[in-house]
Amino acid sequence: MAASLQPSLIVHGGAGDWSSEDGDGEALVAACAAAARAGFEILRAGGSALDAATAAVVVLEDDPRFNAGTGSALTVDGEVECDASVMCGDGRAGAVGALRDVRNPIRLARLVMEKTPHVLLVGAGAGAFAVECGLTPVPPGALVTERMRDKWRAAVARAAGAPAASGGTVGCVARDAAGRVAAATSTGGMMLKRRGRVGDSAVIGAGTYADDGAGAVSCTGHGEAFIKAAAAKQVVEALRAGRSPAEAAREVLPAIRRHGGSGGLICVGADGRLGFAFDTPRMAHAWIDADGREGAGFRAV
Ligand code: ASP
Repeated sequence: MAASLQPSLIVHGGAGDWSSEDGDGEALVAACAAAARAGFEILRAGGSALDAATAAVVVLEDDPRFNAGTGSALTVDGEVECDASVMCGDGRAGAVGALRDVRNPIRLARLVMEKTPHVLLVGAGAGAFAVECGLTPVPPGALVTERMRDKWRAAVARAAGAPAASGGTVGCVARDAAGRVAAATSTGGMMLKRRGRVGDSAVIGAGTYADDGAGAVSCTGHGEAFIKAAAAKQVVEALRAGRSPAEAAREVLPAIRRHGGSGGLICVGADGRLGFAFDTPRMAHAWIDADGREGAGFRAV
């Protein structure tokens, strides 16, 4: 591999309006920065954008403060059902939906990409594939945190069954030294969603997209709106048309609003420039750009 380019990467920890019981924003931003550094170490050592994006997402799936893997939001039945997807700029992609009892859904999404002729496996079939791949299922309930159980109880009491954004979805996009891009997204989805509901985070073109000729995108927010807007693909097409990553990210948000949703996204261009945008009060994010500069935040600027 000709390691001629400076790598770059950006991470998000979910769009939303988390309140003080979710921990302070600075701590969540620090966790995103740590995940970004974990991914960037791989890029710096000459590793692939795919390895870097997967590694950063695994760090946040394992952090119980984020709504992905351990700490996922709960369905109306009080269960964890995770969605995740990954895409490489060469066109390979894999995803899982409504997945139970797998600690790191992003790893299984990658295995779908690498070991099957399919793009998306869901529910019991995805679980069976995990076992086949040697990913030992965690005991039922092991991904449910006390904090999420409390939030679920409060949501049930308050909302009489209406699904709601929970925040805390995680994602990463990266460009490596060989110029390859990749995107990875993982979530527990919306609080009080129906059993079997799959959101944009499992849908290539909606929550995740990558194309070496244009760039890579990971989204967060109301999944139904992102699916209807084909949001991630739209952002990649805007990059291809010559928009800067910041412009391309901003320009898709009105389409999300037209479909009744809100949220945010991160993106990297084929040239390694980074961008992000959100129209929720907060979206934790952290990046390391091609000049090696680090940045992070959670409020709109
Ligand atoms: N996009 C996720 C979903 O709809 C949720 C989120 O990003 O907060 O499942």
